[in-house]
Amino acid sequence: MLEVKDLHVTVEGKHILKGLNLTVAAGQVHAIMGPNGAGKSTLSAVIAGKEGYEVTQGSITFDGQDVLEMEIEERARKGLLLGFQYPVEIPGVKNIYLLKAALNAKREAEGLGEIPAPEFMKLIKEKIAFMKMDASFLQRAVNEGFSGGEKKRNEILQMLVLQPKLALLDEIDSGLDIDAMKVVADGVNSLRAADRAILMVTHYQRLLDHITPDVVHVLVDGRIVKSGDAELAKELEARGYDWVLEESAA
Ligand code: ADP
Ligand code: MG
Ligand code: MG
Repeated sequence: MLEVKDLHVTVEGKHILKGLNLTVAAGQVHAIMGPNGAGKSTLSAVIAGKEGYEVTQGSITFDGQDVLEMEIEERARKGLLLGFQYPVEIPGVKNIYLLKAALNAKREAEGLGEIPAPEFMKLIKEKIAFMKMDASFLQRAVNEGFSGGEKKRNEILQMLVLQPKLALLDEIDSGLDIDAMKVVADGVNSLRAADRAILMVTHYQRLLDHITPDVVHVLVDGRIVKSGDAELAKELEARGYDWVLEESAA
């Protein structure tokens, strides 16, 4: 479904991704781990099409199509969604309007009409209940005054409403207490489907106690230097990253 080949990316003249290879098949959940500054956020941003990143070499394909040729809106319409496409606060734009607009844009791309208001309300009520969120969230401006945990819940809510083909979740566990982590994990698990792939950046093994990834990758200095199953995350938790670096240098 997603294929990244020999990807090199520079940001403001700085070489950050240095020949990254990654293949994610439909139906799978992949976790990316790695030290700070390795390029994890850069990878998610480049896949989603954020501005300011220059791809100097390599390719990204999604369902066989060249992603780098697509505008950011087109990527979203094709079902490639970065959790919190709008990480910043959007003053005055209510969460519910953003969700509805995003859903309608996706439906339009699929040849469907606008979602009827009662149907949308039913959908949204079901999803906020699942995420154990208060309905007042919907009336608040996007991310305005949201805590870290609230932002993450909201990000998963967006995924549940939009049902992307590829869900990219950066720093999925940052700012989450134990209860919120469980809710976020339940949300991600409910997104699992044969025709969907999930790529998440996580820092802690404890999240992976709730979401068992099919593949765990270690990203160090702009490259994936090791991949394995869920056991690899446990090993990283116990031993850190240095041994992976030494192993890959050998
Ligand atoms: P990670 O998510 O793995 O912690 P990032 O992808 O955020 O790493 O960053 C990788 C490297 O790129 C870091 O050294 C960071 O300082 C640098 N970097 C990221 N974004 C920018 C930017 N906009 N301008 C300059 N350097 C950046
Ligand atoms: Mg970082
Ligand atoms: Mg990051």
